[in-house]
Amino acid sequence: MDGKNIVESRLDPARAAYDAIVPAGEPWIHEIRKGQVFRIVDVEGNQAADTLFYNTHDYEDRYSAQDTIRAQANIYLTTGTKLISSKGNVLLTIVADTCGRHDTLGGACAMESNMVRYAIEKRHMHACRQSFLKAVIGWGEGFEKRDITHNINFFMNVPVTLEGKLTFEDGVSGPGKYVEMRAEMDVLAVISNCPQLNNPCNAYNPTPIRTLIWNPVG
Ligand SMILES: [Zn+2]
Repeated sequence: MDGKNIVESRLDPARAAYDAIVPAGEPWIHEIRKGQVFRIVDVEGNQAADTLFYNTHDYEDRYSAQDTIRAQANIYLTTGTKLISSKGNVLLTIVADTCGRHDTLGGACAMESNMVRYAIEKRHMHACRQSFLKAVIGWGEGFEKRDITHNINFFMNVPVTLEGKLTFEDGVSGPGKYVEMRAEMDVLAVISNCPQLNNPCNAYNPTPIRTLIWNPVG
C-alpha cells in the first residue's frame, strides 16, 4: 500500500444530514439517495464493516465484486473505485479514504465458515450473515437469504500474495479512519459491523463504527 490512495474529505460532520453510531456486532440498514455522500468511520480502529449495496429501485441489481474488480483491474478498493452492480451500473464512487485499502475478496463470516475455519463449537457464535439477514428481513420488501451475495469488507486487510494466496491480516486501519463514497444512484446500504471473535480482521475485538450522510452540495 502506498500513500497516493489516502484522500481526506472536506465535509464537516457537524453539517451531516444523518449521523449514527453502529454498536459492535450490530447490523445497520439505510437508503442513500443519488448525490448524497456516505461515510463510514472506523471509530476505534481495526474494525471490519461488511457491507452490501442494492439499487433501491431494483433489488436484484446489487453490488458485484467481480464487476468492480474487473472494471478497475485491481482487487483492492480505495479512492476512485466505482462500485459496480450485477447489471453494470455504478452504485457509488469512493471519493475519500484515509485507510487506503479495503477488501472485497474475503466474503462475510457465517456460522458455516466459523465451524469450518475454527471449530464446530463456534457454530452458535454470531456472524455477519446473520446480521445481514436480520437487517434485510426487518426491512421487508421480500428480501431473503439468497439476496445476501457479494460484500465489501471496509477497513479489512486481506492481502493477496504473489502466488495468489489470500491472507487475513491484522487491520491496516486505525482509530478515526474513514471511507467516503458518493451515491451515483439511489442505493440501499446494509452493514454488518462484524461480530467476529476468531480472526484478526477486527483484532479479535469488535468495536463501534459511525455512519454519516451528507446531502448534495449546491
Ligand atoms: Zn464478519
